[in-house]
Amino acid sequence: MIDSMLQNTYDQVLHRNPGEPEFHQAVREVFESLEYIQGRHPEYNDQGILMRLCEPERQIIFRVPWVDDQNVVQINRGFRVEYNSALGPYKGGLRFHPSVNLGIVKFLGFEQIFKNSLTGLPIGGGKGGSDFDPHGRSDGEVMRFCQSFMTELHRHMGEYTDVPAGDIGVGAREIGYLFGQYKRLTNRYEAGVLTGKGLDWGGSLVRKEATGYGAAIFADEMLKARGKSFDGRRVAVSGSGNVAIYAIEKARQLGGVPITASDSSGYVVDENGIDLDLLRQIKEVERGRITEYAERRGNGARFVAGGSVWDVPVDIALPSATQNELDVDAARTLVKNGVLAVSEGANMPCTPEAVGVLRDADVAFGPGKAANAGGVATSALEMQQNASRDAWSFEHTEQRLTEIMKNIHATCLETADELGRPGDYVVGANVAGFRKVADAMIA
Ligand code: GLU
Repeated sequence: MIDSMLQNTYDQVLHRNPGEPEFHQAVREVFESLEYIQGRHPEYNDQGILMRLCEPERQIIFRVPWVDDQNVVQINRGFRVEYNSALGPYKGGLRFHPSVNLGIVKFLGFEQIFKNSLTGLPIGGGKGGSDFDPHGRSDGEVMRFCQSFMTELHRHMGEYTDVPAGDIGVGAREIGYLFGQYKRLTNRYEAGVLTGKGLDWGGSLVRKEATGYGAAIFADEMLKARGKSFDGRRVAVSGSGNVAIYAIEKARQLGGVPITASDSSGYVVDENGIDLDLLRQIKEVERGRITEYAERRGNGARFVAGGSVWDVPVDIALPSATQNELDVDAARTLVKNGVLAVSEGANMPCTPEAVGVLRDADVAFGPGKAANAGGVATSALEMQQNASRDAWSFEHTEQRLTEIMKNIHATCLETADELGRPGDYVVGANVAGFRKVADAMIA
């Protein structure tokens, strides 16, 4: 239920942005939380803050022509949604995946505004990407695509304007090709214009690990708030990309036993605990499939084609693949199996119905905009290092990341308490993230 003022704005958002279900879902979820502050901030209504917030400041859509290895011209579509710059330059990743369209980029950009606000660092919200599919493409094809993509995007970027990074399908290789083209087009070594760079050329230690580490740290904080811990507990992680791999690593360091990983072909269960070196070799080095993990690991690891990784009985779940991957049935199964905490490593991986089931069952639930904020927070730390022409140690950077995650957790809990919703991280994250942006817009 959302009240009439919010409903009215929501209806306008639907009318103005037809055919964008993920964007509508993200807006609705924030509005449902804002119901708890209705009447407390008349200035937000007077200033039309809600409608202003929902309308991106700028949306860029462009053609990306490139030549494949057969000398055939290919066409993809590029996007950058510069959503909100009240708190700092637009900041957010680029996603290269066939599912990318304007609605997906808007949902991600909208989430990014509040996530970035929660980090406490001076970064606005944005997101971009393309329907280009890097899978099965040669390095040369990916390079030519990235160069063409940047040929348009570069005119919209700048360390004080818009600072992209990676997301699904965009890792260190793609950031390298993008940065090289930016440098060539502008004749500027402007390191702070992109984050997720390689360590030899302006990147930050811990950036690669940060999103997954942060999601596990957030889960740990939620468990501690309930007098529990990771110790000896079974952990399910979905995905096998950058977020999943380092969520597994940190969950293990915190004492948990991560036993799953997945990709679009299915999932693996390894009761002895996921072998990280093998997973990294297959996914990071060979860019292979998760099936190979079970084949090479032997020793009781099994591959399940299709199906749901959430069928595996666990105490802690870290959904780290993609949006809406954990549905209502999966949530019911997790609850039936006694899950204690769900911390979202991906952006909006749980459907609204799934979140409802988890909250009703009193499972500690960390929404992505809080739980996965460690990635973008460490991007902001990379920008700090670039601005001061410095490079921090792994220990120092990880300590900053841990502090930031603990602060986000505390902020969510305090805000939820203040609003009479103790333990409700969704309301806490949405309201705390929103207030700071709204106040800055009014100022
Ligand atoms: N794509 C990541 C996210 O969803 C990181 C963005 C960034 O580092 O700018 O937050």
